[in-house]
Amino acid sequence: MTAPVGTRPPLHYLHEELEKLKELKLYQKLRLLQGEQLPVASFDGQRVVNLSSNNYLGLTTHRGLKKAAAAAVKTHGVGSGAVRTIAGTMDLHMQLEEQIARFKHTEASVVFQSGFVANAGTVQAILGEGDLIVSDELNHASIIDGGRLSKAERKIFRHRDLNQCEEILQETQDWTGRKLLITDGVFSMEGDIAPLAELCALAEKYHCIMMVDDAHASGVLGRNGRGTVDHFDLHGRVDIQVGTLSKAIGSMGGYICGSRDLIEFLYHRGRPFLFSTSHPPSVTATCMAAFSLLESPAGEKLIKKLWSNTKFFKRRLKRLGFNTGESQTPITPIIVGEAAKAHEFSRELFQEGVFAQGIGYPTVPKGKARIRTIVTATHKRKDLEEALDILERVARRLKIL
Ligand SMILES: *Cc1c(COP(=O)(O)O)cnc(C)c1O
Repeated sequence: MTAPVGTRPPLHYLHEELEKLKELKLYQKLRLLQGEQLPVASFDGQRVVNLSSNNYLGLTTHRGLKKAAAAAVKTHGVGSGAVRTIAGTMDLHMQLEEQIARFKHTEASVVFQSGFVANAGTVQAILGEGDLIVSDELNHASIIDGGRLSKAERKIFRHRDLNQCEEILQETQDWTGRKLLITDGVFSMEGDIAPLAELCALAEKYHCIMMVDDAHASGVLGRNGRGTVDHFDLHGRVDIQVGTLSKAIGSMGGYICGSRDLIEFLYHRGRPFLFSTSHPPSVTATCMAAFSLLESPAGEKLIKKLWSNTKFFKRRLKRLGFNTGESQTPITPIIVGEAAKAHEFSRELFQEGVFAQGIGYPTVPKGKARIRTIVTATHKRKDLEEALDILERVARRLKIL
């Protein structure tokens, strides 16, 4: 018998919500990684080919980056001890930001504690009530949260649908507030690329601020991994570029690139910048070493390997007959339909030695549940061959193929 509402602990409803998730088979246990984030790694005590990390270039375990982190601990300690605007701006922080701005060919750059807060903090800071956000439906949660925090009005266009985007911009031609057109550069669940040149043209035609979130494109697309703006040669046409330091860069953090005014404004109004402590020096030094690597022949070689692995893996998945959607990047979904099926597929794959996360509603639309695979530069051909064999075997058993 359940106790009357008044006598239950006040957080009891959370338990009930969790029970509901279990009934719907949406309850997820955290997988435990033992040791380093590697292309073949040990999770929950099981050796698996790891197709679930965003460690595109294998930098989480790069020797040079580890050395840089350790050296910074020696010279600068393990923490910054304050927020950036009080006493927490170290020489390393400024050096990294200058390095990123040069890399991205923008006037200036500012680093936030994560990609998530870079987006949320920036959108919230630059817009307010009476402003408008025009956003792709599959944009990242941090963009959505930033929009909510800004109190601006939000209008959503269907994924990569330029016609609907322009319809919205036409309908709001006489909007008196500011307008922001915002897209992910590479979409994290589909692995497809935004039509950025066309979106820039729309932003220019309708006088919108243009913002792109290149979390999954940094270190992956463009010369030396400069992202989608470089990939499409749109330098100077995107007002705000977002990148993450947590994916290909191999460490943690997020950054905004743009004009000097934009960056200085964020120093004054970016709430995570003002109210949350800056990165430990080791993180900053790691990122500096990572950007130096990207611009070196060794970095170029890693990006090349990432793409040759990507092409190999995609070609083989297609040949096996998997539905891999519209992906154009190292993120390749394998779409199976119902969420329960995707989670079963993922579970069985794990048992057999492949870690590929199952993803269902509400992260992706109903009926489009999938497992998501991400290859990296550090996967060996034989790792990918092994994964493909297991994928085929399990898919046939579950009648996915
Ligand atoms: C991962 C991701 C982020 C968040 O980056 P973190 O550095 O992990 O906080 C933001 N935007 C997109 C599109 C992402 O894929």
